[in-house]
Amino acid sequence: MFLPLKFIQSVRVSTDTHGMTLRNYIYGLWLCLLLPFTVNADWHREEAPIMGTLITVELWHADAAQGQALTAAVMDEMHRIDNLMSTWKPDSELSRVNARAAQGPVTVSRELLGLVSSALAFSVVTDGAFDITYASAGKYYDYRNGIKPTAAQLEQALPAIDYRHVRVDTADSTIVFTHPGVHIDLGGIAKGYAVDRSIAILHKAGVGNALVSAGGDTRVIGERWGRAWKVGIRDPRNRDGVVTMIPLKDLAISTSGDYERYFEEDGVRYHHILNPGTGQSTSAIHSASIIGSNATTTDALSTSIFVMGVEKGLQLIDSLPDTEAVIIDNQGRMHYSSGLDQVL
Ligand code: ADP
Ligand code: MG
Repeated sequence: MFLPLKFIQSVRVSTDTHGMTLRNYIYGLWLCLLLPFTVNADWHREEAPIMGTLITVELWHADAAQGQALTAAVMDEMHRIDNLMSTWKPDSELSRVNARAAQGPVTVSRELLGLVSSALAFSVVTDGAFDITYASAGKYYDYRNGIKPTAAQLEQALPAIDYRHVRVDTADSTIVFTHPGVHIDLGGIAKGYAVDRSIAILHKAGVGNALVSAGGDTRVIGERWGRAWKVGIRDPRNRDGVVTMIPLKDLAISTSGDYERYFEEDGVRYHHILNPGTGQSTSAIHSASIIGSNATTTDALSTSIFVMGVEKGLQLIDSLPDTEAVIIDNQGRMHYSSGLDQVL
């Protein structure tokens, strides 16, 4: 039997309460009444703040205990990848690379090596629009506190932005920076990667209906209640507005927006996607959504399209198999890749 998700969630939350206050006693009573139903609960949903964003997992499983174990496994996977790749955590593997790779090769895990190699491959495909060394200037921005690099910092950082300064040695599993001052950040690809890893866990467990999302990066397995999953594209200038809903089956979608992390100063919006050529925020696009087979790709491409602009961006998307785009430009106009032009 299907139970409303709210019920399933309220049961889980209430099991965390301790002590026999009257409130807890009432909770307990409710719990006893509801437990017989939750044993047969089919849909499982969990949300948690990880990687600086909201992680959502929703899946169908006939066995309630296994369903909950799988949502927990996805959250563990998100934490694991965050601990490996966050630049906010000084002891992450990526932070270790940033601290030492300009001095010489740093030995890293196969996993980090693999994602950095993928990121470099996207730099080639996007003609340098996607560039993880953007962080050489990006590290000077603090969007929460309205801080941007000074002219001197920017001037000094610009020569360090070039993905060719990052060399990976697959045989030795090392990364080295061939230029001083290089900093890398996987913020434009790691969340999509984490979603893909999570989906792989669910696939392996035989899950046939699921959604995993990390902020703007989502991937689904199968359907929901016998219909395609639907993921909304937000109105970039209206927090509560949705401009369109995209139906998805066994696909990924990533949306990048200039409304995610930004501050404004003298009428200029300083947001978190930087043009590697200038070290400054891009301005042609307000929102870019990419639909494709995996979230690592859609994540990297959604960030890239921001830098490439509408025309070049759509050209690239149209040249790639099974990849589509919905772009909202800085005039609020919508643009679609050729595969979507017919259907939306
Ligand atoms: P989010 O889901 O965090 O909003 P996006 O997929 O929209 O992420 O990508 C934005 C992130 O990508 C930034 O926060 C930054 O970490 C990283 N980034 C910014 N500019 C670039 C760039 N030119 N190339 C690669 N990564 C970038
Ligand atoms: Mg992205």
